[in-house]
Amino acid sequence: MRTIAVDIDNTLWDLISVFYKHMKILNPAIPPPEKWRQWGCWMDYANERDVYGILRDIHMVQDAFGVYPEAKEFLSILKEKGFHIIIASHRTKGTMDATVRWLKKHDLPYDEVHLSYDKSILFNKCWAIIDDSPETLDKAVEAKIIRAGLRNPWNEKKEHPLFDNLMEIFQYLQGQCPTHAQ
Ligand SMILES: [Mg+2]
Repeated sequence: MRTIAVDIDNTLWDLISVFYKHMKILNPAIPPPEKWRQWGCWMDYANERDVYGILRDIHMVQDAFGVYPEAKEFLSILKEKGFHIIIASHRTKGTMDATVRWLKKHDLPYDEVHLSYDKSILFNKCWAIIDDSPETLDKAVEAKIIRAGLRNPWNEKKEHPLFDNLMEIFQYLQGQCPTHAQ
């Protein structure tokens, strides 16, 4: 069985719109997300403690939010193809309950949930990682595992396999794994 790690924020749901609303209250000078051309550029508009506070507050009520249209279909088809799915998110472990409630609320199939500030510790047991963070995708290159992500302003200049929706990512994975995912 092949293991795949799947990110949550900006992979299974639109975190950035909610995060931007909070950041704009904190610092109205912050430009809109379509101008966030570099990973972490939001750190220029607030201190680290405030940014992590906003993210924790959002993640604590994760189950109040929706999912991307293909999130359920994407995870369901991976499950159907026999993958072991680790939902892996950069967030504090204290948000586990809200995260699991969100997964169940939207009927998203998974096998494990991993919450930490370094998901690359999973890479030695993963065949692939799906994530939008260029830092995580770079670590996947180092670990020599398959990687892919949704295209966003903060990653599109990087040399990674990026796609416009999750089902395109599934098609890409199929190509990487012809005997398993067809
Ligand atoms: Mg993400």
